[in-house]
Amino acid sequence: MKLISNEEALALAALDAAPDSILIVDDTGAIFRANPAVELLTGYSAEELSGQSVSIFLPPHMRSKHSDLVRKFFLNPVARPMGMVSQLQLLRKDGLMVSVDIALGHCTMDGLLAGVVFMRDMTEVKRLQEDMRYQATHDGLTGLANRWQFMQHFEQAIHRARRSGRTLALLLLDLDEFKDINDAHGHAAGDQVLIEVARRLRSSLRAGDVIARLGGDEFTVLLPDVPSMDHVLTVVQKLQRSLSASCRFKMGELSLGASIGVAAFPTDAQDSGMLMRFADMAMYAAKTQGRGTHAVYRPEMSEALRLRNQMHERLKRAVETQALELHYQPQVDVKTGAVVGVEALLRWHDAELGCVPPDHFIPVAVTSGLIHPLGDWVLETACRQASLWDGNGTPVRVSINLSAQQFRQTQLPARLQQLLDQHGTRADLIELEITETEAMAEPDTTRQVFDRLRALGISIALDDFGTGYSSLAYLRLLPVSRLKIDREFIRQVMENNNDAVLVRAVIAMSHMLGLPVVAEGVEDAAQLGFLRSNGCESYQGWLFSKALPAAEITRLLGRFDCSAAWESCDAPA
Ligand code: C2E
Ligand code: CA
Ligand code: CA
Repeated sequence: MKLISNEEALALAALDAAPDSILIVDDTGAIFRANPAVELLTGYSAEELSGQSVSIFLPPHMRSKHSDLVRKFFLNPVARPMGMVSQLQLLRKDGLMVSVDIALGHCTMDGLLAGVVFMRDMTEVKRLQEDMRYQATHDGLTGLANRWQFMQHFEQAIHRARRSGRTLALLLLDLDEFKDINDAHGHAAGDQVLIEVARRLRSSLRAGDVIARLGGDEFTVLLPDVPSMDHVLTVVQKLQRSLSASCRFKMGELSLGASIGVAAFPTDAQDSGMLMRFADMAMYAAKTQGRGTHAVYRPEMSEALRLRNQMHERLKRAVETQALELHYQPQVDVKTGAVVGVEALLRWHDAELGCVPPDHFIPVAVTSGLIHPLGDWVLETACRQASLWDGNGTPVRVSINLSAQQFRQTQLPARLQQLLDQHGTRADLIELEITETEAMAEPDTTRQVFDRLRALGISIALDDFGTGYSSLAYLRLLPVSRLKIDREFIRQVMENNNDAVLVRAVIAMSHMLGLPVVAEGVEDAAQLGFLRSNGCESYQGWLFSKALPAAEITRLLGRFDCSAAWESCDAPA
């Protein structure tokens, strides 16, 4: 038995304990020693490797080239640390390839040159690196590209389009009322919706189209090489169809929708930043047109957006400082001429913008979320006012307009109950107006909310009726108290036969359901005469009065014996 020196014993122990694989090879590349870690990494035992060339770890086609490298190394042996060469792959005994990092050293033994090969398994490191790369470039929730990755694709796509002279379209999608879903059903539900949206977008687009989630409920789609704008619009419509197909979630059935803005290279702008801004403007323009719509960028939008931002800033301030007013338009009994109710209507006079009509600022409030504090202020002011009139001995029903966003807030009934209690308001003096279209958007939810509101003793009117094509069968199921005929139909009721037919039909249908009808926008005696002869119960309009400040309504009410009038007004003829 050969005695070994302390140094040799130390070297052997180090070889055995090393976590990295270590091979000692002669100057032809033949292996004459392998430590235990080698077997773990390569699948070959030390005995199997003894005398084999190191090229055994390479795929056959690379072996002869590798022998040349070995020869060169021994002609001029220089140590090389780990990390000098990346992307090395080792062929295992079982045929699998493993990522490795390699360091080389050398020594002289018994006067002969020997090479020392250190090999480290990089599989785990590689996996981590890939995970990190994925996380840095993808949206964790939906698996779509993230903003960073999207911008890379975008720049490349612009570059290619510039060279090829082709058109590139950028679509910006913002989900409609996503905030309400989050508020009403919680963030987990919101996440579910986002995942479903991503799935639908993916399934409606082609492989070459880039889809990304920019954050929140904003998505973007890049269509390279579009033949024409018509083609883009076809894709937009396809996306909207796919999104609007109703879907069962844990929290129930939801109909999704997105507002889509479109901008194109090179027509609208030549760089990614401007294209993003323009698509964003187009998207806002779409938002103001209602749910599930799209808009293509037009230069005028830049100005429109400036105005909109200005209006948003001023409106925000006005809401904070309670600078808006609530006026009340009388609703009059067609037969007796008595005031039977009032509709609360917002009025806003701004120092810079002048008098802004609600049709202009309500959409801004809706898209910016301001509708929640604003709507709450309206509810509170109207409830307080109804209670004041009641206390004066002139009780009158106050109708309050509710936007869809407010209506879908789960806390709405509780909030109303709180306001009624706080101001001592009789629930039967409060009526909520919801447009027919909005009530029909999600029929199941609508019925549930209506039931809860009716349970408080509050009544509900369907506003702008005649525009939403409701089915009679469905209306029968809804606990509504009145229908309001849209003023658009009254406007030309004397001139336009279609309108006259529709108004008659709405009144007849409403009476079949046992519901009284209110007509809006009555401006002249002929219109009132038409309504009277067709059995319409009440009306509002400039013929009687515009919306007035509360104090003027107080004076007006003092002239009528309202208590008698409004108790009897609701039975349809
Ligand atoms: P709306 O609910 O259909 O309200 C009736 C609108 O008709 C009011 O417009 C009223 O001033 C107008 N009007 C009344 N009589 C006549 C008439 O004889 N001729 C004509 N041409 N118009 C008449 P306004 O006040 O400009 O409000 C517009 C819309 O803004 C309302 O339509 C409603 O949708 C919305 N709005 C107003 N106040 C509120 C509010 O407090 N909350 C919400 N969510 N929406 C509101
Ligand atoms: Ca209304
Ligand atoms: Ca209306």
